[in-house]
Amino acid sequence: MDAEEFKRQGHALVDWIADYFEGVRDYPVRAQVAPGEIAAKLGKQVPAEGEAFSAIFEDFKDIIVPGSTHWQHPRFLAYFPSNVTPPSILADMLTAAMSVNAMIWETSPAATELEERMMDWLKQAMDLPASWQGVIQDTASSAVFCAVLAARERATGWKVNAEGLYEGPKLGIYTSAETHSSLEKAVKMAGLGKASLRIVPTDDNFAMHPAALSRMIDEDKAAGIQPAMVVASVGTTGVGACDPLKAIGIIARAHGCYYHVDAAWAGTAMIAPEFRYLMDGLEAADSYAFNPHKWMGVGFDCSAHFVRDKETLIRTLTILPEYLKSTEGVTDYRDWGIQLGRRNRALKLWFVLRSYGTEAIAQMVRNHVAWAAELAGLIRADKDFELVTGPSLALLTFRLAGKDADARTEALLDAVNNDGFTYLTRTKVKGRPVIRISVGAVRTTRDDVLAAWARVKELAAGLG
Ligand code: PLP
Repeated sequence: MDAEEFKRQGHALVDWIADYFEGVRDYPVRAQVAPGEIAAKLGKQVPAEGEAFSAIFEDFKDIIVPGSTHWQHPRFLAYFPSNVTPPSILADMLTAAMSVNAMIWETSPAATELEERMMDWLKQAMDLPASWQGVIQDTASSAVFCAVLAARERATGWKVNAEGLYEGPKLGIYTSAETHSSLEKAVKMAGLGKASLRIVPTDDNFAMHPAALSRMIDEDKAAGIQPAMVVASVGTTGVGACDPLKAIGIIARAHGCYYHVDAAWAGTAMIAPEFRYLMDGLEAADSYAFNPHKWMGVGFDCSAHFVRDKETLIRTLTILPEYLKSTEGVTDYRDWGIQLGRRNRALKLWFVLRSYGTEAIAQMVRNHVAWAAELAGLIRADKDFELVTGPSLALLTFRLAGKDADARTEALLDAVNNDGFTYLTRTKVKGRPVIRISVGAVRTTRDDVLAAWARVKELAAGLG
């Protein structure tokens, strides 16, 4: 593709993106396709000869778009948001164009120093401890994996790194059953064994019980288990539960445990000062991660990972072959995460924070929280429904009330998602099915939330 063709196709593509956002409300939110339907439309044979870009782009429109679930749809109320804004998209185009590998400072001075500055901006924006240092990971799963590895090494005196399979005391990793499954995966990948994951009971709000944590650690110590790590959450995936960080932090420190806090979704809300009470006690954490790629308008992927002591993380992950030796006194992010090669993810944060400023992002979050609260009021007042949890920030769960509530709730979710007007997620609360509603797409309006609810009610009435 020559420069003129690139410009022509590039302009057409940007026009398509702008029109997509204008018209995204008209698509069914969840892709209405059967398994294999898309694959059947894709060429089986790898092309030996190149094709015209226009043909490829037509296939994108005809095959990929209808086969996609529209996360930017204003009535996407499923999972957590993965929202994106135009400045973030433009930044990603530039990132793709330069395709810098930000593995060490020398290969990417601007990307590295921008990343450091963006982490400082996020600390300011959210009133996080000034002494923390930050790195952008791809996902919160990577951040928690790094945290588990750092905790393992700190607890064993860097023995596993040095000697491999560990024959010392079993390590204890404490968390609640509400914590995201990425922790369980991290524990598995770190070779600690399933039994290391110690599930602390929760209270009526699904938040970890500090007294139960303390008791469990004491009992484990007596049984020869070495407490190594505590993982708390602010805004759990199922119901948005928020663990009491301060009380948990005191216990974690008293037992020398590495303390990680996961706020993958809720972290963005801390840009609005009135929500920061949820983070009271965060300063005791050894590491903290939240995803600007969820609620902040920064496109996937971008996970902000802060650490109290960067040396613990670097010592855990460092490798230094000759070809990676770099400049003295600079940050080499290769040692801060799992991967060596890394994209310049800081650029889209820079573009988004400068384009909107913290106030507009805070206002977006406030709107989502207010609309979720309004919706919760409607559900509470409706005799046909039961508000089961929340709202916690912009997340609530509900079910149908009355006879056969569980089966009818499951049937309602299927009806809603097959209908396509809105898209919701199932989960279970205390063993019973519920439907989650999570408000958070950048284009969502109050009317979208109300219209989605009206459709849910209509479909529920149709179930009989
Ligand atoms: N933590 C919480 C609370 C989450 O809700 C999620 C995903 O939704 C994760 C961690 C994992 O996030 P990621 O997809 O960035 O690994």
